[in-house]
Amino acid sequence: MIIIMLGAPGTGKGTVAGILQEKMGIKQVSTGDIFRQNIQDGTELGKIADSYISKGNLVPDDITIDIVRDRLEKDDVKNGVILDGFPRTVVQAEALDRILAENGKKVDLVVNLTTPEEEIIERIVNRRICSNPDCKTIYNLQLNPPKQEGICDKCGHELIQRKDDTAETVKLRINTYMNQTSPLIEYYKKQGNLYEALVSKSINKMGKDVAEDIVKMF
Ligand code: ADP
Ligand code: ZN
Repeated sequence: MIIIMLGAPGTGKGTVAGILQEKMGIKQVSTGDIFRQNIQDGTELGKIADSYISKGNLVPDDITIDIVRDRLEKDDVKNGVILDGFPRTVVQAEALDRILAENGKKVDLVVNLTTPEEEIIERIVNRRICSNPDCKTIYNLQLNPPKQEGICDKCGHELIQRKDDTAETVKLRINTYMNQTSPLIEYYKKQGNLYEALVSKSINKMGKDVAEDIVKMF
């Protein structure tokens, strides 16, 4: 099963993908996480990625597509994958369709999350992430705080804030999303596999609720 998480930054893609991974036993692959790991390790890819990510821009398509193509060849995604943050452009979506077709596969479900912009900004500046690469649980200082300040409930590691989770960068990231990623909604609507969900405190529906709805569909 191939699932794609679509949605602007801060809509809860990572939260939903993490819960689906746990409940459905399908591996979550986040291109953002791959880039951040490379930045932390100081690799050549990390240096290039950082120069785009820190400005709220997308990493170029050719680099991103190569990474995903390699990642999809690994054994742990042979039976399925939840792509969290990929594709983010029509060029990437077309490349993914080709890569999957070569292996007799196709995209099964595209989950498109939407959240009002004021809520997105509030969520992103309050977001904290577990620094343990095997955990990466996402917290929110207001909506979903850890029991002990600065510490992950699940694994006890320190919580960190992403460098690009500032009010200024998030506005740029939302613009980038509008210009380059939102056309994918039409792209997948045409393919007929789009599932749309509003994630907002105004209707008391958060990422975990959307994840539960999806799990029930299978
Ligand atoms: P968010 O959805 O909150 O912005 P991600 O972790 O998905 O967070 O992505 C962080 C950053 O990594 C993006 O702002 C972008 O610069 C880069 N990135 C992630 N995925 C892609 C992609 N598929 N194509 C290009 N750049 C990407
Ligand atoms: Zn943790």
